[in-house]
Amino acid sequence: MAAVSFPAGGPGTPVSAWIGLGANLGDARAALLGALDAMARWPGSRLLRVSSLYRSAPVDAGGPDYWNAVAELATPLAAIDLLHALQAIEQAAGRERPYRNAPRTLDLDVLLYGDERIDTPELTVPHPRMGERAFVLQPLAEIAPGRVEPARLAAVQSQRIERLGPFWP
Ligand code: ADP
Ligand code: MG
Repeated sequence: MAAVSFPAGGPGTPVSAWIGLGANLGDARAALLGALDAMARWPGSRLLRVSSLYRSAPVDAGGPDYWNAVAELATPLAAIDLLHALQAIEQAAGRERPYRNAPRTLDLDVLLYGDERIDTPELTVPHPRMGERAFVLQPLAEIAPGRVEPARLAAVQSQRIERLGPFWP
């Protein structure tokens, strides 16, 4: 039987998860909107807040600029099931992984899952690289200021990122 894990509050108790969305191939804005729409349709899940849309320079990679946002989702899904559901949305958007940090039609990362710390081969939460990325910290600070240390935000000020304005709903 497959192992099933549940949120800290027990099965079915919604947890706030913060999802990082990014895309830099094809119609990136449409990909982000499509992902938000898909999450909002998951049974029992609810989008609580969505940041503005941002445009940022690729980090450790070439290619076109990225479009980014962060969303807070209240979800009854266990963290690993949430990751798999996000990966299904990525696949449906035509995500390919030819090499590390390759340009992508859609990237959906679990940034935070309540206050939980998870360290498994498949899933690490908080997301291990979120603290060094302006394209995560800035939109996250917009919708969850208490979850971003000001010093961390200050440390990434040299990374190029531009706030484009609200785009959801
Ligand atoms: P990137 O790190 O550039 O987002 P991918 O989206 O291809 O790269 O993800 C690579 C792997 O990272 C996934 O197969 C997944 O198992 C793992 N992973 C570990 N922690 C997380 C997380 N918090 N959110 C998303 N993926 C994660
Ligand atoms: Mg990813």
